[in-house]
Amino acid sequence: MKGVFVSEMDPKQDLIFKVLDTLKTKVSELNYNNWFKASHWSYDSDTLVKIQVPNKFIRDWIQENYLEIIKFEFFKTTGMEHEIVFKIGGPVSPISQEIPLLSTRTSLIPALSSPLAVSPVTSTSTTLASTKTFSSDSNINPRYTFGNYVVGNSNQFVNAACQAVATHPAKNYNPLFIYGGVGLGKTHLLNAICLEVLKTNPHWKVRLVTGEQFTNEVINSIRYQKTYELRQKYRNNCDIFLIDDVQFIAGKERTMEEFFHTFNALYELRKQIVLTSDKLPKDIPDLEERVRSRFSWGLMADIQSPDLETRVAILKKKAEEDHIPLSDEVAHLIASRVKSNVRDLEGTLIRVNAFASLSSVPVSLELVTDALRKTLSFQPSLSIEQVQQMVADHFQLKIADLKSPRRHKNLAVPRQIAMYLCKKHIHASYPEIGEKFGGKDHTTVIHAFQKITGCVDQDLSLRSNIEHLEKMISHHH
Ligand code: ADP
Ligand code: MG
Repeated sequence: MKGVFVSEMDPKQDLIFKVLDTLKTKVSELNYNNWFKASHWSYDSDTLVKIQVPNKFIRDWIQENYLEIIKFEFFKTTGMEHEIVFKIGGPVSPISQEIPLLSTRTSLIPALSSPLAVSPVTSTSTTLASTKTFSSDSNINPRYTFGNYVVGNSNQFVNAACQAVATHPAKNYNPLFIYGGVGLGKTHLLNAICLEVLKTNPHWKVRLVTGEQFTNEVINSIRYQKTYELRQKYRNNCDIFLIDDVQFIAGKERTMEEFFHTFNALYELRKQIVLTSDKLPKDIPDLEERVRSRFSWGLMADIQSPDLETRVAILKKKAEEDHIPLSDEVAHLIASRVKSNVRDLEGTLIRVNAFASLSSVPVSLELVTDALRKTLSFQPSLSIEQVQQMVADHFQLKIADLKSPRRHKNLAVPRQIAMYLCKKHIHASYPEIGEKFGGKDHTTVIHAFQKITGCVDQDLSLRSNIEHLEKMISHHH
């Protein structure tokens, strides 16, 4: 397993090795070397695997091309659905020097073989080195500061609220509840608060978790009879408590209960609490009333999508940070096309730069348009029904045929393709997909995904069908 780093102390490393071994047989050696070799895999909790990668290109690439396969292999090996998180760490050097870059799957092969020799992440020590200045959570991302958060009309208020909380914790706004859509900077702001707080109070116990991590911690504490430790950590041994994507705890009874008591304890002790969510408290389903009401005790601040000028400013800032040359014209073009979400804005910038440096042509209108199409194809706005419709149209079938239990090959293959596309492009869960295909069992969906993944490289007609459908999916956005 030369090259891929797996924590030595990780008791589950065998499992990881197994998965990596299978992956090796599923992707070409070149791709394996390019994308996996410099990564570092470890278990964060029972079903949460952290993959540490040297930069965001590798993260994006793995995420977009291999995430489902990785999850699937963990599922196959352990029988449990795993979550995969990425952490960017290790030696980070300016993007423009590091990455040659990729436009499509095919052009990557010759281009990447040597220049992608990114120095490997040296085991767990790197993670420790980059975060050891913090006495608190290693969750904190040192790149998300107030300094590189661009402020415009859409986020002026929330930014001011966060600054106030960071400089005067638990004075005026407790809790601070931030809500807004995906990719608008909620996580960025939470980290900025942590970093700012630690500047003035380096010894503070800053507890920054996602709703999902908190849920996992609660589950594990029950399972391993460590509830006392958990309470110590969050109630007594905590100076500021931040939960990102807190909507995740809705519907999880024990987690909501633990949160409720933690909230009360910290509130009593006058400790700052900051929460983010993709919705307003009143719009979060399955939330206990007593929890919902606490969400709204303090200040609520929303983040809107940035306006054009702010989008341009954000692009320029990112370009400067990453040493990417960016003309005003191109910045405007990108900003006028990508409207909703700052993450997509960043993704587009990276792709445009990638395209340009790979083909060594100047950034043109077509180049930007092409890059835009790629970025947008990963937006999860597509529904399972829409994919079913596309597949049905393509094979001149009815949606009912895809949902039916009939196993004739003329139906079964399109059905499997549709399931595969739903998993890959919508990231729906196996049971959910099964449900939408006429109430099929999740194992049927897993089988379909596995089968198509396994055949797509060899079977030319299958591949051309899938490529055609994927093109339609990307045009859809
Ligand atoms: P959310 O948590 O709301 O989904 P993130 O905080 O993860 O969004 O933001 C997505 C990306 O966009 C991050 O890389 C973040 O740094 C960047 N970003 C969002 N808003 C801004 C902004 N106003 N200025 C600079 N970068 C931003
Ligand atoms: Mg977030």
